Amino acid sequence: MSMSKFNQLSKEDLQAQLDHNRKKYHELRALHLSLDMTRGKPSPEQLDLSLDMLNLVSPKDFHSQGGTDARNYGGLDGLPESKKLFSAVMGVQEEEVIIGGNASLTLMHDAMVNAFIHGVVGSKKAWRQERKVKFICPVPGYDRHFNICQHLGIEMIPVPISEDGPKVEMIEDLVRKDSAIKGMWMVPLYSNPTGTIYSDEVIRKLAALPAKAEDFRIFCDNAYAVHHLTDAVNQLNMLTACKEAGVPDRVFLFGSTSKVTFAGAGVSVMCGSAANMGWMRKHLFNQTIGPDKLNQLRHVRFFQDAEGIHAHMKRHAAILKPKFDTVLQVLEEELAAHSIAEWTKPEGGYFISLDTVEGCAKRVVTLAAEAGVKLTAAGATFPYRKDPKDQNIRLAPSLPSLADIKQAMEVVAVCIKVVSAEKLLEA
Ligand code: PMP
Repeated sequence: MSMSKFNQLSKEDLQAQLDHNRKKYHELRALHLSLDMTRGKPSPEQLDLSLDMLNLVSPKDFHSQGGTDARNYGGLDGLPESKKLFSAVMGVQEEEVIIGGNASLTLMHDAMVNAFIHGVVGSKKAWRQERKVKFICPVPGYDRHFNICQHLGIEMIPVPISEDGPKVEMIEDLVRKDSAIKGMWMVPLYSNPTGTIYSDEVIRKLAALPAKAEDFRIFCDNAYAVHHLTDAVNQLNMLTACKEAGVPDRVFLFGSTSKVTFAGAGVSVMCGSAANMGWMRKHLFNQTIGPDKLNQLRHVRFFQDAEGIHAHMKRHAAILKPKFDTVLQVLEEELAAHSIAEWTKPEGGYFISLDTVEGCAKRVVTLAAEAGVKLTAAGATFPYRKDPKDQNIRLAPSLPSLADIKQAMEVVAVCIKVVSAEKLLEA
């Protein structure tokens, strides 16, 4: 088969490519595969890395370092030793940390709802009293962030993400003019799904955005703060940047151990200025008597300090890196020569973002599903689940085995070749 770029092939050669790949697709389909690359779940081997943590709170040993009985109520914003541990991981002061429950998404959702119902520090009124509330959403991005906005009727404004973060000039122009834009989402390190590492320059510019809304808030979700596949990245902290820009209240930081220890049974954290943390604590007080301190104790005992977390994450990387490499290898071997797709090569996080020829993503995902390979729904990486160019697909290599990933990616590559050839023949 010709290894040329599809868009340089004659009609006859393109038709030959289509026939060849359709045949391959049907052969793969006949294998009745059942493979799942939809969500960024840790694999069982990764979860096994933290099993010993479960033994670290015993019937004889359930007191915190300060003598608090972790079995009982209290400690609204976390045990002092967990604040110490997570302040080091998040790069903030201990008093700038609130420890939450099992999921950082809950903290993000609740912070947004509190802003909506009550307003934030510096708001003249609750956001719900505004005629309209809008949020900047870097795209492609994380579907759950978009769901929170959609759930509250917050209008989402997509801004494309490039190599070093979202296009800041576009955001500056938007927020300068429109006081209805109350904030933005960002995942500064290894963004979901592109794996983008925001540059310090972009972080500084975002901290200093000329926002017309005086109560503009950046929801900075540092979900992948310690999830390096190779070397650690030394990135400017968003709270530090906001302090330097003279707007310490502008940012809420979030993180969790969902992909460090157990997904759905980890510890979450929210960080920000003293004023912002006071605001959040005031609202938390009405929501809960306190979080799960036994789980906090387990985490503190398991890791001891930030170094303990970094050493543990190296063990995750040893499992994850070969999976990312396999996806990239199949894409390179099967697609690179044909110029029918582009993809990111992340240095950390959980995802690879793939762009097909315009108008092909939905059909690729459908064809792959029909051959037994489930992918994240096309469109999910955009607000309102609408990818205007129908070209982005999120690949999540963490859960399946290496052999399964190779097979799944071979199916994906064949589907991309079939759909691209069909599209080009149509044109
Ligand atoms: N933020 C991002 C960017 C994520 O990718 C994920 C998991 N897919 C989460 C948050 C979920 O975090 P948690 O389990 O702490 O709610």
